[in-house]
Amino acid sequence: MIFTHQDLDHIGSGAALVRQSGARVLAHPADAPYIEGELRPLKVTPQMLERRPQMREVLERLEPVRVDEYLEDGSRLDLAGGIRAIFTPGHLSLYLERPKVLVAGDALTAEGDHLNGPNPSATLEVGEATRSVSRLAELDVRTIVCYHGGVVGEDANGQLRRVIQELSRERDA
Ligand SMILES: [Zn+2]
Repeated sequence: MIFTHQDLDHIGSGAALVRQSGARVLAHPADAPYIEGELRPLKVTPQMLERRPQMREVLERLEPVRVDEYLEDGSRLDLAGGIRAIFTPGHLSLYLERPKVLVAGDALTAEGDHLNGPNPSATLEVGEATRSVSRLAELDVRTIVCYHGGVVGEDANGQLRRVIQELSRERDA
């Protein structure tokens, strides 16, 4: 099991999944202290708990998960014809080399077959987001899998370039 990042909607069921599957857990070292319960997930701030008090209960039930193996930027897994890890600040994406599938996690979002940049409310800085998407656009991608929005198979490389242009315009506005 590979964690792309430490947001609650991506780590919440981790412990239960490990119990049921016995899966090994892989993550980037920067995310490990959050996944292992040493640090609170980054977006959980006193202000956030004020706004969404129901999150307190979610936090209380959040179980730590031990990370068995670190994935760094450029790490390669000998699975499914080769999987390359691409770390951009705060996020790990996965590139399946043989089918040219980019598992983008939350680095990108989609609506139907339309690719979008990362969710603005989840993005700390648009310049950084632009650089991150530019890294992903260096790959030859046939299919992009976004956690929020699903699978994009239509002109994946072209859509990545368009998203970079859109983010750059937003950054320079
Ligand atoms: Zn998410």
